[in-house]
Amino acid sequence: MIIRSASFVRSSTSLAQCPAPVKPEFGFIGRSNVGKSSLINFLTGYSKLAKISGNPGKTKTINHFLINDSWYIADLPGYGFARVPVKMRETWIRNVREYILKRENLSCLFVLLDSRLKSQKSDLEFMEFLGKNQIPFARVFTKTDKLPSGSVEKAILEYNTEMLENWEPLPLTFISSTVNRRGKEEILNFIEETINNFSNTV
Ligand code: GDP
Repeated sequence: MIIRSASFVRSSTSLAQCPAPVKPEFGFIGRSNVGKSSLINFLTGYSKLAKISGNPGKTKTINHFLINDSWYIADLPGYGFARVPVKMRETWIRNVREYILKRENLSCLFVLLDSRLKSQKSDLEFMEFLGKNQIPFARVFTKTDKLPSGSVEKAILEYNTEMLENWEPLPLTFISSTVNRRGKEEILNFIEETINNFSNTV
């Protein structure tokens, strides 16, 4: 898919504020600092669309971007941030949970995982929540340029071995690096196919 346009639409703190659910939507979520903003910018080719920051846990709103006037990217607040006050965490959980469970045009949620880390409890629990609620999602292993060549596949294999204790089949998986420019075509092709299926069912 060729990205012809990408623009910021709105920041929302709850589902009610999100744009009308009339176009297919792809959400991006992951632990703070996983590389979510970088991936969104890389995929769209707009280097300043989502804000990359050295301040983990800054995104607290759901940020919508309109792509090619035909589909949305929803940049969701990062989770797993230890230094955030409990009250804020509870609000995050309530709002994002509501979004995930009730956003009717959510075609797929990309769950970003840092390829350098072993499986994290918060990620596994989060994906379990998605699975139990039948939310369509895919994994994206990020920052793969930081691993020595050949060890990305090994890291994913290890991750899969652990996930297979609870999962069958395993969720769809993508590998990305904004430094090596890896994964863009695969993810955008998948989005395009999913959009075509969406159009065929409405
Ligand atoms: P977010 O908090 O999940 O939105 O993460 P950011 O996109 O702000 O990225 C966090 C840090 O990781 C920044 O310093 C980025 O430059 C860096 N980063 C993001 N993606 C990659 C990648 O693919 N490779 C490398 N080496 N660094 C990355």
